[in-house]
Amino acid sequence: MAKLYFYYSAMNAGKSTTLLQASYNYQERGMQTILFAPKIDQRFGNTIIYSRIGLKQEAVPFDDQLNFFEYVEERTNTMSNLKCVLVDEAHFLNKKQVSELSDIATELGIAVLCYGLRSDFLGEPFEGSKYLLTWAEELTEIKTICQCGRKGIMNMRIDSEGNPVTKGAQVQIGGNESYVSLCMKCYKNKVNKQEEITV
Ligand SMILES: [Zn+2]
Repeated sequence: MAKLYFYYSAMNAGKSTTLLQASYNYQERGMQTILFAPKIDQRFGNTIIYSRIGLKQEAVPFDDQLNFFEYVEERTNTMSNLKCVLVDEAHFLNKKQVSELSDIATELGIAVLCYGLRSDFLGEPFEGSKYLLTWAEELTEIKTICQCGRKGIMNMRIDSEGNPVTKGAQVQIGGNESYVSLCMKCYKNKVNKQEEITV
């Protein structure tokens, strides 16, 4: 039975790589997939998901207006073997869109795999992740390691000198250069002490 899945992690844990591998596994078996990525991610152009280890695949850009259910239902007219929908940076979804994705699994019988962060750089939950953590039928953590060796769960935004940034907009796209994944203990230490971070 098709389900809604949420693969969550901190920054730089290899979410896009895992997504692209999952899509490839379906395609290798002759099944079709649709990939979605947020429009706001302009780093590599609008519609390609790149992983840091060199994989890439075209994606449908989404903004907060896209109705995922209507879009995917329409595509089933021409994609007779559509078995899986994959969403990169799924923390940027809104509540309504998470509900639509859930409907894709339960009503259309198509698996939905979402990949995203749990919290922003201030430790606050993203709207998409809040509802994915609540409504996804399967939750899987993609683990990453803090500089101290513990599991990294927090995303710290850092400035060009490596100092923690504790104010600013929730959305600021960046990779290694502007974020570092830390365990809770190191995150608190750095925020409290404003220690210099070694990236
Ligand atoms: Zn740590």
